[in-house]
Amino acid sequence: MKRLIFNTSDFIKSDAVERRVEKFEGDIGYSSNIAVNLKVIKISDDKVYVSGAVEGYIEMECARCLSIYRHPVELYIETDMDFLNGEVDMAEEIRQRLILEIPSKPLCDQDCLGICPECGKHNKEKDRCSCQSRQSEDFSRYRWESLFGKNKK
Ligand SMILES: [Zn+2]
Ligand SMILES: [Zn+2]
Repeated sequence: MKRLIFNTSDFIKSDAVERRVEKFEGDIGYSSNIAVNLKVIKISDDKVYVSGAVEGYIEMECARCLSIYRHPVELYIETDMDFLNGEVDMAEEIRQRLILEIPSKPLCDQDCLGICPECGKHNKEKDRCSCQSRQSEDFSRYRWESLFGKNKK
C-alpha cells in the first residue's frame, strides 16, 4: 500500500504544505483513479491540521448485474493529525474514509435490475426486456388457438 507522508522536515520553510497526488492508491475495489489535494498546516510541534479534497472513482462490482462499474467518490477532509515518529501518513486516513463512502450493496445504476437470464439484456427500471410479458403473451395466444383455433377453420 502506498503511503502519503508529511514529515517534520517538510515544514522547515513554511508552516503550510500543499500536495497533489494524481493517482492515489487506496487498495480499494478492483482498481481506482483517485486524486488527492491536501493542504497541511503545522499547528504545533506534534500536530498538523489537514484539509483538502479526495475525488475520483473506484471500480466496483454491481450487486445486481455483477458488472464492474466506476463508483464516483468525492469527499472533503478537515482533521487534526498527530506526528508519529516525526511523520504524518495520510494514506490510511484517506483509505478509511473511502471505505465508508462505499455502499454495502454497490449498484452500477440506482435503476439496475440485473441481467435477464433469457435474453441477457441489462435491465433497468425504465428499460426492461419483454421476456416476462412476451412469455405470458405467447402462453395466452397458445391457449386461445388450442381452444378456438380449430373451430374457426
Ligand atoms: Zn448493475
Ligand atoms: Zn430478457
